[in-house]
Amino acid sequence: MGRIGIIGGSGLYEIEGIKNVKKVSVTTPFGKPSGKFVLGMLEGKEVVFVPRHDVGHRITPSHINYRANIFGMKKLGVERIISVTACGSLKDEFKPLDFLAIDQFVDRTNYARDMSFFSEGIVAHIEFSHPVCEELRSLLYNAGKSLNLSIHNGGTYINMEGPAFSTLAESNLYRSWGMDVIGMTNFAEAKLAREAEICYATLAAVTDYDCWHPQHESVTIDMIIQNLNKNVKNAKRILCAVIKNLKPERNCNCKDTLKYAIITDRKVIPAKVKKDLEIIIGKYIE
Ligand SMILES: [Zn+2]
Repeated sequence: MGRIGIIGGSGLYEIEGIKNVKKVSVTTPFGKPSGKFVLGMLEGKEVVFVPRHDVGHRITPSHINYRANIFGMKKLGVERIISVTACGSLKDEFKPLDFLAIDQFVDRTNYARDMSFFSEGIVAHIEFSHPVCEELRSLLYNAGKSLNLSIHNGGTYINMEGPAFSTLAESNLYRSWGMDVIGMTNFAEAKLAREAEICYATLAAVTDYDCWHPQHESVTIDMIIQNLNKNVKNAKRILCAVIKNLKPERNCNCKDTLKYAIITDRKVIPAKVKKDLEIIIGKYIE
């Protein structure tokens, strides 16, 4: 069975209960990952954990090396990634402490070119209409339900640039677009994971309502941190429940994403690109 990757967001910098822990540094053609990867056993399965902001929360959303993080996961044999992420709610029905098993993303960042492994000498257009692995996503949702947590089945995550939060006009604009929650990190990971043929699903935990909400003025940073900690505790319960029941075989299309996506004539792909991307494109390039 391929390893299971876990990417931790705000508040999730370590996972207790991982056994036989080994910390490894991974080099990638795209530079340094957020930190060392934590390898070990959780619920009897091999997992790889990395906190995207690093331990101590020192990397801003705009400066996370998403390519290196996902490439590192691929290099370590990860086939599925579960992302745990804090988010703001853009709708009344998504209350603080609720979870969403996200199924769609909208990108509002400025870094599109750093969100692909195919940026030089090779062109690949992946199919991305459904950016989340449905198989993994439904496992997240069902695990949350089985634990009696308030979890919503689907939702659209708008990925803003940050690090400042939205203006009121922006928040209202996103609401008028029908967006459900807002965050700063998951879109790039979803895209890169798909390019690397890794299943990816986001468990989004609501910490607060974004600034559009009448309650927003009375929200203190203390309340947000309290919510963050409660969310992390429950997110870990969901993670363990999913991992425990995960079957080795993948019955989704994620594993064959690149089959018809690489458009470049194999003869003109530079040798360095072939070598750098070997673990991702090797099986399609002779
Ligand atoms: Zn999948």
